[in-house]
Amino acid sequence: MAADQAPLEFGGPLGAAALVLLLPTTMFHLILAASSGPARLLGPPPYLPGLEELWSPWALLLLLTWLGLQAALYLLPARKVAEGMELKDKNRLRYPINGFQALVLTALLVGLGVSAGLPLGALSKMLLPLAFATTLTCFIFSLLLYVRSLLAPASALAPGGNSGNPIYDFFLGRELNPRIGSFDFKYFCELRPGLIGWVLINLALLMQEAELRGTPSLAMWLVNGFQLLYVGDALWYEEAVLTTMDIIHDGLGFMLAFGDLAWVPFTYSLQAQFLLYHPQSLELPMALFICFINAIGYYIFRGANSQKNTFRKNPSDPSVAGLATIPTATGRQLLVSGWWGMVRHPNYLGDLIMALAWSLPCGVSHLLPYFYLLYFTALLVHREARDEQQCLQKYGRAWKEYCQRVPYRIVPYVY
Ligand code: NDP
Repeated sequence: MAADQAPLEFGGPLGAAALVLLLPTTMFHLILAASSGPARLLGPPPYLPGLEELWSPWALLLLLTWLGLQAALYLLPARKVAEGMELKDKNRLRYPINGFQALVLTALLVGLGVSAGLPLGALSKMLLPLAFATTLTCFIFSLLLYVRSLLAPASALAPGGNSGNPIYDFFLGRELNPRIGSFDFKYFCELRPGLIGWVLINLALLMQEAELRGTPSLAMWLVNGFQLLYVGDALWYEEAVLTTMDIIHDGLGFMLAFGDLAWVPFTYSLQAQFLLYHPQSLELPMALFICFINAIGYYIFRGANSQKNTFRKNPSDPSVAGLATIPTATGRQLLVSGWWGMVRHPNYLGDLIMALAWSLPCGVSHLLPYFYLLYFTALLVHREARDEQQCLQKYGRAWKEYCQRVPYRIVPYVY
């Protein structure tokens, strides 16, 4: 292990190797299960698809066109160029804030295409080969990133991901901010092709449902609406991603490349996939109740994230100036009242409440549409532990005091 290497995560090289296999396998299992009659989350997949069902040059072409389109939208003039956090070499990178613009332009292009007769609903039948092409692309992309990182100076490496073990480093990502010119690969992958792809797949499933049954179901509308709000929010507040663990701490390797480009669009659209093959009747009062749950989740999620971002940008902003804080040796302060005085990760709590609201329209007859809620709980519990570890290293005693004053991590009085 290199001298400045962070402790190994995800169970070290063995854990990383297992995840490289397990993540794509799970994604294919979910896609297959969603369209099968029993729609079983647990147990063997309904069948094992042959290569002829997985591989399609058209799917690869479609994927590359999609990535090319999103890259072109990334390069368009931005309403703002933001600076990232300070790097090891004291420099700051610059990032275009034009993700929301990319979403709107994509929507316009898709709208034009559909009105000209583009059969968007047919995308729902291509999910398997598209997921396969994306997985292959992610493997090749991560391999290229790994090879490229071997030539990078030590100052460009991520705190984790340079253990010297090729499998672990391939998974976690060696180089922190791989770029060609001003094109930042990690920032590009984080919020664009995958997130926008997710809502596009949802829309395709909605259109396919309308084609099959005459009109999309209320449940399908809710799932599409909630998830569009989530993606629109992420892109509207795009600048906030610059202070997240993914950008500041993690290198770009298979974990983020596959997570952003494949896992998000193909597994986060699971509820809409399920609804296409397993229609659910939803009464209006129940639909309103689910909207209420989503609104509560969104209120907490947005309130907490905005409060912290405002505080980090300008602690004397009137909306946060009155909040109680703990000083730290780094000169930064920790919020100890407001949302961040309720639990140590109020934004995760809001996110989990929304995850529940996305699954409820699918009824309670199957566990499969609740996969996201289960997986996301595990992800956020693990992410919270990683973040606590990093905050303890950063803030030492001040962090311990924060933990004493705010004893619960995500759910008040529970966890
Ligand atoms: P957070 O936005 O929770 O940021 C954690 C950082 O916030 C800490 O490292 C620390 O950084 C700062 N911080 C922690 N406590 C305090 C405090 N009391 N006062 C001030 N600053 C504090 O991290 P994430 O990147 O994990 O999450 C961002 C959002 O993205 C969340 O809403 C999360 O739910 C969502 N998310 C969604 C995923 C999905 O797949 N849908 C996946 C992952 C995240 P510092 O002190 O250096 O500023």
